[in-house]
Amino acid sequence: MTNDDTRLIQDVLDEKLAVKPSAHDIAVVQRQLGRFPRGMVAVGARCVCGNPLAVITRPLVDGRIPFPTTCYLTSPEAVKAVSKIEAAGGMTEYTRQVQEDDDVRLAYERAHRLYLAFRHELAERLGDSEEHIEGISAGGMPVRVKCLHALLGHSLVMGRGVNPIGDAVRDRITDEFDTNVCRCSVIVDDETEKEHRA
Ligand SMILES: [Zn+2]
Repeated sequence: MTNDDTRLIQDVLDEKLAVKPSAHDIAVVQRQLGRFPRGMVAVGARCVCGNPLAVITRPLVDGRIPFPTTCYLTSPEAVKAVSKIEAAGGMTEYTRQVQEDDDVRLAYERAHRLYLAFRHELAERLGDSEEHIEGISAGGMPVRVKCLHALLGHSLVMGRGVNPIGDAVRDRITDEFDTNVCRCSVIVDDETEKEHRA
């Protein structure tokens, strides 16, 4: 880890953890995932409309369940677009890139180190144990590409220039998903929510 990479992790965590997920954020993510987002400690990335697109999940959910996918993609539009690439053989294609292109391989190895360092720092700040997931990042890193959703989640939370495959996927799906263009199907109206609850 270079000093710049260490600083990058601190900066991203400082920025994201400074804002607690609101009841509205949690309601949107619950609707996106179809389940309550347990262990969600921050919104990792937002749509231009404000909706969460990816969340940061703590390393130990409910104090007992180890959760390796710290940067978790929640946007249904992104999930769908990425699933199409996976169905078309995207994992094999990107794994080949990692294995055959030295620049991609080195960048992907760095992405793996950044993922682990990010979770380690998060675990420290939250007082979570990481022992069951130590050394395990996400998406198949550092040598294979197994889940493009996880890699896109990483790219969205940490920003561009961290995960080469996540960035490539992001560029490839802009017709269906783009953080700057709202195509959100999940819209939670707080007033309506309150009425529903009442
Ligand atoms: Zn939106």
